[in-house]
Amino acid sequence: MKITFLGTGTSVGVPMIGCKCETCISTDERDRRLRASILIEHNGFYIVIDTSTDFRQQALRLGLDSVDAIFITHCHADHVFGLDDIRPINFRTGKAISCFASERTWRDIHQVFSYIFRPSGYEGLPKLIPNRIEGAFELFGMRVEPLEVIHGRLPVTAFRFNTEKSWAYVIDCNVIPDETLAQLKDLDLLIIDSLRYREHPTHLNLEKTLKYIEELKPKQTLLTHMSHDFRHNLLSGQLPEHISPAFDGLQIEI
Ligand SMILES: [Zn+2]
Ligand SMILES: [Zn+2]
Ligand SMILES: [Zn+2]
Repeated sequence: MKITFLGTGTSVGVPMIGCKCETCISTDERDRRLRASILIEHNGFYIVIDTSTDFRQQALRLGLDSVDAIFITHCHADHVFGLDDIRPINFRTGKAISCFASERTWRDIHQVFSYIFRPSGYEGLPKLIPNRIEGAFELFGMRVEPLEVIHGRLPVTAFRFNTEKSWAYVIDCNVIPDETLAQLKDLDLLIIDSLRYREHPTHLNLEKTLKYIEELKPKQTLLTHMSHDFRHNLLSGQLPEHISPAFDGLQIEI
């Protein structure tokens, strides 16, 4: 299984429009972060977690021309606003794409993208097969366990994947409930939200992220959904060897 980081940035991306801070003017490519999303390749199938605002650019950059499933963590703009850009993949394959989200997230998607679901007879709309996540499921030969984390007051879906190895994608949260923590044990890899150094009302800051890592003890951890507070090389130097900031384009075989 291969994981590719399509984007590792917070909602405004890095660099941020109009900002001249050290990170935003950095020439290190790893300081350029599109909106958070990953691509999973498994058994010849391609799954994206979230269709970020930058999905078009991310797909073009990678040469991605096929998507077999989409998982949506929650319906915030930075995670779903690329949904319309799946259309070229529909055109190319002639197929609708299975899309997995919680009931709450589907309600929000129906509001934000009402035109997709309204019967219009127009052929050029994004074609999705909606799947409501209700519990663990099997997909393309892997077991997927959806888990709930808290993002301010909004429940967000995190995902644990089990094949021969176990790993999880946990973003956009400031609290991981005890029940979810219990299901995040014994991970080979944890990919987790870490927004910035200072506290934030709806995201984990570095200190809180490190506390959860200490508790969960995954073999390896990659940080994502990062703001311009973090310069890649400075942050890397502040972290122990088994924890590192992810960056756009990073690929992990697991
Ligand atoms: Zn976000
Ligand atoms: Zn900046
Ligand atoms: Zn969010």
